[in-house]
Amino acid sequence: MTPSPSHALPAVDTGLAWNNRFAALGPAFYTRLEPRPLPTPHTVAHSPDAAALLGLDADWLHSDAALQIFSGNALPQGSDPLASVYSGHQFGVWAGQLGDGRALLLGEVQTPQGPQEIQLKGSGLTPYSRMGDGRAVLRSSIREFLCSEAMHALGIPTTRALYLCGSPEPVQREAVETAAVVTRVAPSFIRFGHFEHFAARGQFGELQQLADYVVERFYPECQDGADCGGHAGNRYAALLQAVSERSAALVAQWQAVGFCHGVLNTDNMSILGLTIDYGPFQFLDHFDPGHICNHSDHQGRYAYGQQPGVVLWNLYRLGQALQPLIGDPTIAMGALESYRTLYPQHFMQRMRAKLGLDAAHEGDSTHIDAILHLLADNAVDYPIFWRRLSRAVGSGDFDPVRDLCADRAGWDRWMLSFSEHVALTNRALDANLMLKNNPHIVLRNHLAQQCIEAAQAGEFSTLQALQTALQMPFDEHPAHEAYAGFPPDWAAHLSISCSS
Ligand code: AMP
Ligand code: MG
Repeated sequence: MTPSPSHALPAVDTGLAWNNRFAALGPAFYTRLEPRPLPTPHTVAHSPDAAALLGLDADWLHSDAALQIFSGNALPQGSDPLASVYSGHQFGVWAGQLGDGRALLLGEVQTPQGPQEIQLKGSGLTPYSRMGDGRAVLRSSIREFLCSEAMHALGIPTTRALYLCGSPEPVQREAVETAAVVTRVAPSFIRFGHFEHFAARGQFGELQQLADYVVERFYPECQDGADCGGHAGNRYAALLQAVSERSAALVAQWQAVGFCHGVLNTDNMSILGLTIDYGPFQFLDHFDPGHICNHSDHQGRYAYGQQPGVVLWNLYRLGQALQPLIGDPTIAMGALESYRTLYPQHFMQRMRAKLGLDAAHEGDSTHIDAILHLLADNAVDYPIFWRRLSRAVGSGDFDPVRDLCADRAGWDRWMLSFSEHVALTNRALDANLMLKNNPHIVLRNHLAQQCIEAAQAGEFSTLQALQTALQMPFDEHPAHEAYAGFPPDWAAHLSISCSS
């Protein structure tokens, strides 16, 4: 390790090629600063898959240099750390300036798969920390680490997690916990709230600079507007439409898999259509459209069934922010309309795949609605239902699925009517398609909780074993069966809040 010329922290050569393009936007967008070192850090977990994405040698992740960097005790040579500023709407209300209150963008690296940014979360106070302490606790960091990589393995767009380290440093939440840092990776961490920030302040030059940066870097097809929703010459309308389209595809995946984000504020909405900022998220146990996973969400604004609507609300806030660049409000409205059309299409396509149908036919939605009603009325376990149904289509034995419904007659009626619909439309259910679309293992709250309690007691192998299983969520492996069962009774009493 050598001292870095412009930084107090030592610099380490990682072999990564840094090209910090967000930093090149200029000081209106961020504050340059170094991480606050996490004292006496230790490694909790890392993701070899995320390392491969960066072209990093997985062995290097075991080195002390890696631990020093990812705990904020050293800087990668070539990085240019900064905390970015953004604003946002929280729980439907304008919250004003927020920003990276405990995250720090180390910079952007070139990888074989294109540029990726590397960010520390939990790395200490920044000018945007407001009342916070700049830290993250081990409990919520484990949830973010595991879920980021689990979502990726499910094929759902997400920020990635490269590294998780802990420390004995005490952090006060409801109780005293200990500090941790998650290293996240994504092509960009820009949120809807970054645009809202400059729009709200009337800083239209910076707003345009940001929009141009996003279009040129991540939506090149929107550059002249023509190929993007027919917004010829209006790249900002084209951008709004493209973000709406990506968001529609993303939410359809959440709904189909039974993922509840928990805090869909505009500052937690990625401009790239990635799942970002894992807090009180939950994969549904029993199916309940009204399920609220965030204990702090008293009104149920972010209940599972509200997500498609609330993401559209968030897109309207983005549209409002882009309005000065787009010009004509009717053009902005038109760009947002694509969400209303595309979300149901994406959702139906995902649900058809879960049902083993590779082609669409009129009337499918009636049967999809009916089965979801049956699951809700019978409080059927959502992941187990779909997995058992996939197996039943392969084996012909539907009893294990029927057994899940207290209303057996209701199940029989649905099954008969659905089977007739499939036969009448000259289709057959594809069991393999179902097995690839109905995961055997998802990161249920109780599984995360078991890892958290073990890790808090200094034992990390529980977490690492679950991490391995979550990398192959569609496979049935004897060693992973314990993760595929019904949740224990105590899982219903877990209370997950915004506290992190
Ligand atoms: P979140 O609810 O986690 O999306 O956070 C909302 C805002 O609060 C973001 O700007 C975060 O950076 C900030 N924040 C959350 N927790 C902390 C903390 N412990 N210290 C400083 N800032 C925080
Ligand atoms: Mg956030």
